[in-house]
Amino acid sequence: MSIQSNRLSAEQYAQNFSDLHPAFETADAALVEANRCLFCYDAPCMKSCPTNIDVPKFIRQITTENLKGSAHTILVSNIMGAGCSKVCPVEKLCEGACVFNFMEEEPIAIAKLQRYSTEKALQHKWKLFTRKESFGKKVAIIGAGPAGLSCAHMLSREGVDVTIYERENEGGGLMTYGIAAYKVTPQFCKDEVDYILSIGGINIKYEQELGRNIELSELQNNYDAVYLAFGVGLARQLQIPGEDLTGVVDAINFIYEIRNKGYSNVAVGNKVAVIGMGMTAIDAATQAKRLGAEEVTILYRRTQDEMPSTEVELKIAKLDGCKIVWLAAPKEILHGAGKVAGLKVSLMKLGETDASGRRSPVETEEEFILEADMVIKATGQMPFEELVNNNDLINKNGKLSVSDKGITNITGVFAGGDCVNGGKEVVDAVQAGKDGAAEILKYLVATDARMGTDKKSGAEL
Ligand SMILES: Cc1cc2nc3c(=O)[nH]c(=O)nc-3n(C[C@H](O)[C@H](O)[C@H](O)COP(=O)(O)OP(=O)(O)OC[C@H]3O[C@@H](n4cnc5c(N)ncnc54)[C@H](O)[C@@H]3O)c2cc1C
Ligand code: SF4
Repeated sequence: MSIQSNRLSAEQYAQNFSDLHPAFETADAALVEANRCLFCYDAPCMKSCPTNIDVPKFIRQITTENLKGSAHTILVSNIMGAGCSKVCPVEKLCEGACVFNFMEEEPIAIAKLQRYSTEKALQHKWKLFTRKESFGKKVAIIGAGPAGLSCAHMLSREGVDVTIYERENEGGGLMTYGIAAYKVTPQFCKDEVDYILSIGGINIKYEQELGRNIELSELQNNYDAVYLAFGVGLARQLQIPGEDLTGVVDAINFIYEIRNKGYSNVAVGNKVAVIGMGMTAIDAATQAKRLGAEEVTILYRRTQDEMPSTEVELKIAKLDGCKIVWLAAPKEILHGAGKVAGLKVSLMKLGETDASGRRSPVETEEEFILEADMVIKATGQMPFEELVNNNDLINKNGKLSVSDKGITNITGVFAGGDCVNGGKEVVDAVQAGKDGAAEILKYLVATDARMGTDKKSGAEL
């Protein structure tokens, strides 16, 4: 058997792609969990959330059955708090910092509680935010991903008129078309984007691409400020022979197809090799297995101590039956009749510590052949370097370089999210959007003052 679609029955697909972290079954179960919280002073869970959600406050609001208040507490700090409750690596963030860990007890199920109140806000379309009256300022945003949407919502709350230019025909960025389908469904992502837009004052122009249909200079002329949140691009090349063979795919494209075509229409190999050990690699590997691949092997050139994914992600891959080979790097993709037939793999050892503070992998003379009919590349994403260079922005290793809070080298142009940090998590992009909005508001107020007007934004960030 080689690469093919429709490997499983509809029931099997539905079971394999069901919710990874199911919601509380009853309101009582949520109440019991919320009541375990110690409502710590100076709560470590709150400090370890990049968006600084007031965790003890929203949990206390659940205990008093004030769900609207609880949802507001979450969403005021993180407008994608519903999505983050499903995709955040909480084991290294809020839940990882919960004091219960030090008592060797289960941490509070913060994400599940966050999901409990925010899902209700989305389901019932609770109007928790009102937009201040427009004060005549217009901001253009490139990209309707988490950074762009968070910036847009914050600006709109303060009465700024926002237009987002988005390359795709849907909003949400990688949340909508990148993250594994068993974490967030396309319908959930659509509901979350609709909820964000329901504040008003945000217009999204779809299928509009910076560098193709629109230019930065045009936006600078037509708007008072511009925020760039175009994320990062496709997977990095492996730079080894055989990379062009049929059966070699990019992890982002593979996941995008699962989100867009439906499970049964996505072709998957029987023996799949995944290269890399980040969240994208794990998502691609587990989804290949859930699409019906018989064997999935993840190859990583370093050891478990250096892997970018979390232990929880690794556990998911292992529970799904994926095999992991540490200290192994692909050397050549082997072919039979123009298609992938296997992978020549070099065994590595760890050498000197490099600039990243990790020990570098060094090739040994030992090799082995891994049988495979599909290779998925997931060794990090390539920044949109051309967009940075062509627009005279500062290029720092391909990424867009900004000051602390998202100010670029061009006056009136701000940036944040993956295009600046090179690819982190949704919650980091949301915070970057907030920081960018705060700087833009300061800039709009300052330019107004310079022009001698007395208009005020009334920003409360
Ligand atoms: C496979 C995968 C799995 C992931 N899993 C998780 C996870 O489980 N949990 C987690 O927290 N994070 C995860 N992430 C990371 C997370 O998705 C990103 O950090 C986050 O989406 C970044 O937000 P952003 O707004 O900066 O960029 P993006 O989400 O990439 O949004 C950028 C937007 O800009 C648009 N765009 C790009 N170029 C242009 C242009 N020239 N003109 C106009 N529009 C443009 C894009 O279409 C996109 O909508 C994952 C990432 C990947 C790739
Ligand atoms: S650290 Fe744990 S117990 Fe303390 S407030 Fe946060 S969730 Fe509650």
